Amino acid sequence: MSGGTTPGRYRAEAARTLAERPSVRTAVTSATDHSNVNRGRAYATIDSERWRDWARDTKTHLLTHLDRYLEQAEASLLRNGVRVHWAETAADALTALSGIVREHELKRAIKGKSMLTEELGVNAHLEGLGVHVREADLGEYIVQMLGEPPTHIVGPAIHKSLADCQRLFHERFGTALDADPDTLARAARAVLREEFLSADLGISGANFLAADTGTIALIENEGNIRLSTSLPRIHVAFVGIEKLVPRLEDVAGFVQLTTRASTGQPIGNYVSLIQGPRRVGEIDGPDEVHVIFVDNGRTRLLADEAAWEALRCVRCGACLNICPVYRQTGGHAYGWTYGGPIGAILAPALLGLEESMPLPFASTLCGACADVCPVRIPIPDLLLHWRERAVEAGLSSTSEAVGLSAFTKAAEHPALFGAAGTLLRWLPWRAGGRALPILGGWLQERSAPEPSAKSFRQLWKDGIE
Ligand code: SF4
Repeated sequence: MSGGTTPGRYRAEAARTLAERPSVRTAVTSATDHSNVNRGRAYATIDSERWRDWARDTKTHLLTHLDRYLEQAEASLLRNGVRVHWAETAADALTALSGIVREHELKRAIKGKSMLTEELGVNAHLEGLGVHVREADLGEYIVQMLGEPPTHIVGPAIHKSLADCQRLFHERFGTALDADPDTLARAARAVLREEFLSADLGISGANFLAADTGTIALIENEGNIRLSTSLPRIHVAFVGIEKLVPRLEDVAGFVQLTTRASTGQPIGNYVSLIQGPRRVGEIDGPDEVHVIFVDNGRTRLLADEAAWEALRCVRCGACLNICPVYRQTGGHAYGWTYGGPIGAILAPALLGLEESMPLPFASTLCGACADVCPVRIPIPDLLLHWRERAVEAGLSSTSEAVGLSAFTKAAEHPALFGAAGTLLRWLPWRAGGRALPILGGWLQERSAPEPSAKSFRQLWKDGIE
C-alpha cells in the first residue's frame, strides 16, 4: 500500500482494476465453478448436515476450552520431543524463527503451503536474515516467481490462465510457449527437487493439531509438504492457536470434511501426521521439530462475544468459491492475506477495524457462504456485526451516512416521506437515472423498472383491489 493511501481507497482501486481485467475474472470464475460443483457432489455423498453440525460443535467446544487444550497440546508435543514456542504477535513468531535459524546456522528454506506464514510475512523475514526461501507448492511457486501474494486460501494462483503460466515458464525455464500443463509441472518439479534436497530448514503450517497426542496434521495434493517436513534437518510448523482439535480421532473427521468442502475430494492426496523428530532406526525425518503457536489477535477475537465464531474456520476456501463478490475480483482486491467472506470477518479482528475497511461491506449478504461453510460460521451475521461496529466508530462511508440520516428524517415525518417518494418516483427516471448519482453506476449495467404512478400509501388509501 503506497504511503498516504487509505486502506479503503487502496482496496477500492485494486478491486476496480481487477474487476476490469477479464482474464482474472474468467480464470477465477472458472476455477471456483469447478470447486463448487465438486463440493456439491462431495457433500451429497455423506450426511453433510450432520457432519457440519459435528464439526461446528467440536470446534466450539475446543474454542470454549482453548486454554486447557493448549496446555494439553504443549505437554503432548514436549512428550513427543517437539520444541514449543509461544508467539503473542507476528513479531514474536518471527523472533522465535530467527532464534532457530541462528542456533542451527540455517541457509536454505523450503516452505509448504501455509496461509499463516503469509499472514506473518515469513518469507520476507527469512530473506532479511540471508536465508534463501523457496515455495514448494506449485501455485505458491508461481506467485512467488511473479512477486505476488496468493489470491486464494487453497488455490494461490487460480487467477492465472494456462497462457499466463506458459509465458512465465517459457521465460524462466525455456519450456515451449504452448507446453501442456504436465510439461510445465515437470519443469517446476526439476527445479524444486534440487530445492528440497539442498534445504536445511523445512517450514509448514498445520491444518489441525490433536491436543491429546500432539500430532500435527497436514493435508495436500502435491506431496510438497511431506517433502518439506521430512527432508530438511529442521522442521518449523507455524500453528494458529485455533487450529487445535481435542483428539486425534477428530482429525479423521475434519480432514475428510475439509477436503470435501474445499476441492470436493473425499480426502487429500497426501495426509501427513507428524509425531515429532526422526527417532532411532527411522530412515527419514528431521533432527528437530519446532511448533510455534501463534496468537496474533486470535485471543482478542475469542473474547469478542459477537464475533468469535470466525475462529472455527478450517481455511477450506468454500466461502470464497461461492461468493459473488470474490468471484468477480479474486483475492488481491481484499488487500491482505485472507480474501473473500472469511477474510472480511477476520480482518477487523486481526488487523483492526480501521485498517480493515471497507472489507465488512464487501459482501452482498446473500448468505451463500454460510450455506456451504463446513463449520457453520454465520458469516453474514458477523459481517453485519462488523458493519455496526464500523458505523459506531464513524468509519462507514459519508454518502451512506448522509443518505441514511436523510431517510431517517423523512421516515419520521409522513408528509416529508410522501413528498420525497413523489419526487423520487418522478425525477430519476425523467433524467435517465443521472439525477441520482448513487444510481448512476448501478444503472450503467441494469435497467430499472418504471416506478408506479401511485405510492403504496396512495394505493392503500384508494383501496387495493
Ligand atoms: S469460513 Fe467456512 S467456508 Fe470459509 S474458509 Fe473458513 S471454514 Fe471454509
